[in-house]
Amino acid sequence: MSFNSLGLSDALLKAVSKQGYTTPSPIQQKAIPLILEGKDVLASAQTGTGKTAGFTLPMLQLLSLGQPLRQRPVRALVLTPTRELAAQVYQNVKQYSTYLDIRSTVIFGGVNQNPQVATLRNGVDVLIATPGRLLDLHNQRLLSLANIEILVLDEADRMLDMGFLRDIKKIMAVMPAKRQNLLFSATFSKDIKALANDILNHPVLVEATPENTTVDAIDQQVYRVAKGLKPDLLVKLISDGNWEQILVFTRTKHGANKLTKKLISSSITAMAIHGNKSQGARTKALDGFKKGTVRVLVATDIAARGLDIPLLPHVINFELPNIPEDYVHRIGRTGRAGASGLAISLVSADETSFLRDIEKLIGERIPMEIVEGFEPDPNASTEPIKQGQGQGRNSRPQSRKSSAGNSQSSGSSNRNRNRRRN
Ligand code: AMP
Repeated sequence: MSFNSLGLSDALLKAVSKQGYTTPSPIQQKAIPLILEGKDVLASAQTGTGKTAGFTLPMLQLLSLGQPLRQRPVRALVLTPTRELAAQVYQNVKQYSTYLDIRSTVIFGGVNQNPQVATLRNGVDVLIATPGRLLDLHNQRLLSLANIEILVLDEADRMLDMGFLRDIKKIMAVMPAKRQNLLFSATFSKDIKALANDILNHPVLVEATPENTTVDAIDQQVYRVAKGLKPDLLVKLISDGNWEQILVFTRTKHGANKLTKKLISSSITAMAIHGNKSQGARTKALDGFKKGTVRVLVATDIAARGLDIPLLPHVINFELPNIPEDYVHRIGRTGRAGASGLAISLVSADETSFLRDIEKLIGERIPMEIVEGFEPDPNASTEPIKQGQGQGRNSRPQSRKSSAGNSQSSGSSNRNRNRRRN
């Protein structure tokens, strides 16, 4: 199938072909015609599926067909959970609207509001925003949402995870009731379904390729290692492999900072990206990483969510996430849009049950290796980590010779599934 058969205008097709895309992704094939028909859409799609173009292209087409209003009030609003995702969606909107008379801008917190307000005053058709700053400016009467025709909630599950439900409800209350609503989410919890019920009007459900398909394209490996040896093993793997552009995940902000210092002291350029970093520091880290001046980006899950770094060759889980779905999101950063990638996890004894749950979710065993000199500690406890740190008390011996398919495990029922705010 080609983009030409989706009902998009020539101006949009030209912008798509400028990006070098020839075939619409599955979510684009399904969502674009429905959105063009004016339907409300509930889409199950994670980052990496091409979802952004999936809602942006038809949204721009509908706006460009509509009656241009003299004052240029905001007619389409895209809400995102994080500043980084907002910035990326904005980049996409700008690229796809190159040949259209459509103005767009992005607003998010953590930076001076004045330039954002000045741009809004000049009139924009499409606004991409994080909920907090949007409400803030709305409360100051610096923007109006009274002319919204299309609302997009991007990564709605993360918005709820991050506690934005109240803000979203407040935003709904100041928009016209008659509008088209598009809700994108990687997961469908009870809360997401309730939100969808509240917001969407006779929605059509659209699903992207199952998550496992993304995982299939990725070469995954586990290195069993003693907890205290992880930093040195990471340095060795990066140096021996001569790897460039490596995204490393840690569970905590503190862990991200500590590891970044260790890498720098080993002459590997690295920067951390997490919730405690200023917007300026995050943008600098991401830019450096994309340009290649920063070799390793050390990130926590929430900070990394939605980062668009095409063709990322290496993703390393310095620690496994305690939510198995987060593993799929993390490694989804590699092997995107058809390119293959390598996803490595450094797993200590206390993460054994996390590994077992991940393998259950993805439906396969991940090949396991042990590097000489970095063997797992045979006396370490396999009790799961609580709240991302600390060790359990019950010590169980761990096999020194693990191989694919025989991961040791202790009971995982008591593991803490509470997501940490990073
Ligand atoms: P997204 O899921 O929106 O974050 O997009 C994931 C990546 O795929 C981005 O780098 C897009 O630029 C890219 N992309 C989006 N649509 C296509 C397409 N039809 N063909 C190839 N790449 C695409």
